[in-house]
Amino acid sequence: MKTTEAPHYRRYVLERGGDPLAGPKGAADGAIRRGHRAPLGVGDGKGVMFVGHIGQIYPAGFLPLSCGRFPNDSVVDVYQNHPTFRALRDPDRFKGRCGVCEYRYVCGGSRARAYAVTGDPLETEPDCVYMPGRKTVISGQ
Ligand code: SF4
Repeated sequence: MKTTEAPHYRRYVLERGGDPLAGPKGAADGAIRRGHRAPLGVGDGKGVMFVGHIGQIYPAGFLPLSCGRFPNDSVVDVYQNHPTFRALRDPDRFKGRCGVCEYRYVCGGSRARAYAVTGDPLETEPDCVYMPGRKTVISGQ
């Protein structure tokens, strides 16, 4: 299984003693699947950038927050210095549950989903069921 826009799956795997880059503990093909997973901490605007067909620069393909336009703006400069990109790379600026979550550096939630639901890309990941501070899963997963 390959997840897309589901960084909170890393928390799920870690709590079960697995390697979030390889899969749940005991998975025989973990080493093979490792190559199909995003490295820890990679997310919208943090190791990811999307440039649309007419040059708009976004933090991710799922996050339609225009931060500039190529070729007028340098993609390197936007990635390194645009306030939105800088905020997305700083988990301590996340709000709500993600802002206090012990997994925010390896997960951080989907910033695109937070933006789609709340209008604020730094808000809580709406699809995560984890309550920070608990080391147990609270859903029937
Ligand atoms: S609360 Fe946020 S940072 Fe914590 S596991 Fe859920 S999505 Fe990830």
